[in-house]
Amino acid sequence: MTKAILNQADIPRKWYNLASDLPIPPLPYLGPDGQPVTPEMMAAIFPMSLIEQEMTAQAEIDIPEEVLAILAKWRPSPLHRAVALEKALGTPAKIFYKNESVSPAGSHKPNTAVAQAYYNKKAGIKRLTTETGAGQWGSALAFACSQMGIECKVFMVRISFDQKPYRKVMMQTWGAECVPSPSMETKLGRKILAEMPDTPGSLAIAISEAVEQAVTDEKGETRYALGSVLNHVMLHQTVIGLETKKQLKMFGIDNPDIVIGCAGGGSNFAGLAFPFMRDKINGADIEIIPVEPASCPSLTKGKFLYDIGDMSGMTPLMAMFSLGHTFIPAPIHAGGLRYHGMSPLVSQTVVEGLASPLSLDQLECYKAAMLFAQTEGLIVAPETSHAVAAAVREALKAKEEGKEKNIVFNLSGHGLMDLKGYQSYMAGELTSHVLQDKEVEGLLADVKGFPEAEIRRSGRWN
Ligand SMILES: *Cc1c(COP(=O)(O)O)cnc(C)c1O
Repeated sequence: MTKAILNQADIPRKWYNLASDLPIPPLPYLGPDGQPVTPEMMAAIFPMSLIEQEMTAQAEIDIPEEVLAILAKWRPSPLHRAVALEKALGTPAKIFYKNESVSPAGSHKPNTAVAQAYYNKKAGIKRLTTETGAGQWGSALAFACSQMGIECKVFMVRISFDQKPYRKVMMQTWGAECVPSPSMETKLGRKILAEMPDTPGSLAIAISEAVEQAVTDEKGETRYALGSVLNHVMLHQTVIGLETKKQLKMFGIDNPDIVIGCAGGGSNFAGLAFPFMRDKINGADIEIIPVEPASCPSLTKGKFLYDIGDMSGMTPLMAMFSLGHTFIPAPIHAGGLRYHGMSPLVSQTVVEGLASPLSLDQLECYKAAMLFAQTEGLIVAPETSHAVAAAVREALKAKEEGKEKNIVFNLSGHGLMDLKGYQSYMAGELTSHVLQDKEVEGLLADVKGFPEAEIRRSGRWN
């Protein structure tokens, strides 16, 4: 057997909230005054139903029927065993991948986009604004809004807007509007363009623009949607891991040895890993690895502190691993991983030692992605290549140790809209890029003035 296919009736009916099981919950979000933000303060940006999910301590939350009906267009997604890759590596390990590339937008992102569009529509919202890096989130939200019959406006990081014209066409095909960020449409965008007319942009800038446009809608009919980082996004993605657990059982596996996901804001990693983390908290022996680019290493080189999620402080202060909100990452191709911060929930799992982060250089990642394409056949997204490369590393380690480990990773998306990166790699034009400690120190100097985030751990895993 090389793939496990579930029935439509096996789509999870409830999302899983890791915060309910963590020995020490994440620190609260803070306002500019250093006081915890209240739901009312967030209501200008998000509908109350999502704010409740953001703050809930409940373990399981029902997935609305209307959301399930749309998810069922591609869920449950298949879990494959990568036999050809295993053979090429000569490893005794078994490698499994959860294929989230089968969604209409080609990644895991519609799992939360559909839920967010649904709750906004239900709250009477007519229009969502958002940012996008590589274009996957923008296209996922464009798809979801078209399903729900609401408008969608996307601020796309300039460098990706230029590098990936077809993502914009996808968004437009689903009826959304897509503009490069920084743009002339917001106060912040105009300010940045005046100071740095040639900036490649950053997710932090684009987030600020999208939030600004949502909160300045005089009719109050616009809200903002974020594709990663926040607790409710991690929550919506847990369908991935919940399905994977059932599928591994079809392969006769109760608990995998190693769980891997690439990490930008943390959502596809969390989606796969959090249901397994519940088992780990209850005593299972599972190694859980978020993988990030060496050029944007928030978990491995950043600091755990209170930082804002955008460039200008439109978001609350969040306790997370960060490289500092002024970080403008090197224009490597894994656009979706170029974010200065990290999900506060994922950050707390790293503080606890429940997850053990790894950073990889893009050359190693493309090499692994090429091998994957030539064995398993799928051309993965540049972001996903980080998970592939980590799985390859672990499989080779298992070979050295002569151990039959079970490794599962999240194939978060396909790379059919990101072929430019593959082209550059094959032409030998990509270089390795590792962010140095000195650069990180300089970046973190900008975060001064925010409250300190206390490191609190139970000591059970470190
Ligand atoms: C956006 C994206 C990522 C990174 O975002 P996370 O929130 O960390 O998951 C990874 N892979 C793909 C294919 C993406 O589109």
